[in-house]
Amino acid sequence: MIADKLQQVRARIAQACASASRPVQSVTLLVVTKTYGPEAVREAFEAGERRFGENYVQEGMDKIASLADLRGAIEWHLIGPLQSNKTRVVAEQFDWVHSVDRLKIAQRLSEQRPAHLPPLHVCLQVNISGEASKSGLMPDEVAATAHAVAKLPRLVLRGLMAIPEPAADFAAQRVPHRQLREMMQSLQARGLALDTLSIGMSADLEAAIAEGATLVRIGSAIFGERPILRGAAPGS
Ligand SMILES: *Cc1c(COP(=O)(O)O)cnc(C)c1O
Repeated sequence: MIADKLQQVRARIAQACASASRPVQSVTLLVVTKTYGPEAVREAFEAGERRFGENYVQEGMDKIASLADLRGAIEWHLIGPLQSNKTRVVAEQFDWVHSVDRLKIAQRLSEQRPAHLPPLHVCLQVNISGEASKSGLMPDEVAATAHAVAKLPRLVLRGLMAIPEPAADFAAQRVPHRQLREMMQSLQARGLALDTLSIGMSADLEAAIAEGATLVRIGSAIFGERPILRGAAPGS
């Protein structure tokens, strides 16, 4: 079941790459497992997936612990909000953080990344639709933050991430994705070696790939609609 859905998602990615004249290897699939149990991760792993994304720190930690036998083979990505009191466990347990939205969080992650592990890969989350309720850096804060984060010794700044507002059609979906890609290109032009544009979810992966997504974060298209979210606050 999960294997079939995964195959459908891979086919959508391949089709979107073909339409954009991009090689299919230029887009990485991140399997988003928030709210689904460890068995779902194991099933996707057995179907060949190696990169998994979690939104909630505690839920991610629990899943990493119950899948300890796969730890060396899986790359764990935190894609949800991160409060400063949770940075230590994240620095110790995760491989990537996509949701860095202020310098202070990046500084803590760098200080707390254990010496025996490789540097932590990070993206800056940008509030690309400028929504008051959304997390992420405002567009005018991105350049200064990116240059500061790039200097931190125990982090590797890989690129930018965004969760655009839902949009009705393909053309409208492309707009925020294009803005994020242009923002990354301007950082690259100013000397930052970035290679990751983390955009595209189940509803808009085609538009994201058309605008240059290098990593799409897909949950419901693989696992079905999520159960009602638990009472916990985001980031808990
Ligand atoms: C849940 C989530 C996803 C996956 O969304 P789907 O629509 O289920 O594919 C991707 N990115 C983030 C940050 C999420 O919270």
